[in-house]
Amino acid sequence: MTSTPPHPEFILLLENVSKSFEGFKAISNLTFYMDAGELRVVIGPNGAGKSTMLDLITGRIRPDAGKIEFGKDTDLTTLSEPAINRLGIGRKFQTPAVYIDHTVFENIRLSLEGSRGLWNALFSRLTAQRRDRIYEILKTVSLDAKSGVKAGALSHGQKQWLEIGMLLAQNPRLLLVDEPAAGMTDEETHKTGELLLSLEGRHSILVIEHDMTFVRQIARKVTVLHQGSVLCEGSVDEVQNDERVREVYLGRKKKDKH
Ligand code: ADP
Ligand code: MG
Repeated sequence: MTSTPPHPEFILLLENVSKSFEGFKAISNLTFYMDAGELRVVIGPNGAGKSTMLDLITGRIRPDAGKIEFGKDTDLTTLSEPAINRLGIGRKFQTPAVYIDHTVFENIRLSLEGSRGLWNALFSRLTAQRRDRIYEILKTVSLDAKSGVKAGALSHGQKQWLEIGMLLAQNPRLLLVDEPAAGMTDEETHKTGELLLSLEGRHSILVIEHDMTFVRQIARKVTVLHQGSVLCEGSVDEVQNDERVREVYLGRKKKDKH
């Protein structure tokens, strides 16, 4: 099935994208559009190609065929991973990658001043403007009270928020977040939902998730991925009531049993 055609304000476009790994089609004729400012949730069973889709957008891997564009006419398929990152596409992987021996504050500072090097980031004078920006980010991710704590001492959920904060420090136009609620407590998951909702409109956000309570909390439009292409798209209720979606998930449950 085809995805909704792009609005003039679209930020991300994938058209007929395919990617095989040793003959296995992980992404198959995938067409996907996202509007600027949108908070989109992508769900789908294990192995549906969700993370591979992010690998393709961020330039970690190259498509075998198809178009991937950022904004109006920036072709992402020819750019390197760092170049794509510099364009304003930030990605959060499933496992948090924070500097555990540095404080929460320093972690954000390192991201803010990343391009100036580690030495500069830690030992140069911090302007009041930058300090304010760091606290603003810490507040956004609910870690302002933890600013002096070493990142290694944070809970799993707090580390995830810190990493989201580190991404925000780079002021990305598009934020890609892969399974943020994995391993979180219910309370942390709910807070993560609130955090993502608070970013809506300021950034375009693509969230991959399979915790349906969480999806229900944050979702506007949901895209269901299956065998590397879009199976269906709509509101949470629409996709949950879709017969094809039910089959895919029920089919998977049966397979998991043996
Ligand atoms: P999801 O994130 O939806 O669970 P993935 O995108 O991780 O799924 O994987 C989709 C399929 O592609 C899986 O069968 C996976 O084993 C395969 N795959 C993903 N990346 C690679 C890779 N680098 N090399 C070989 N196979 C891969
Ligand atoms: Mg994945």
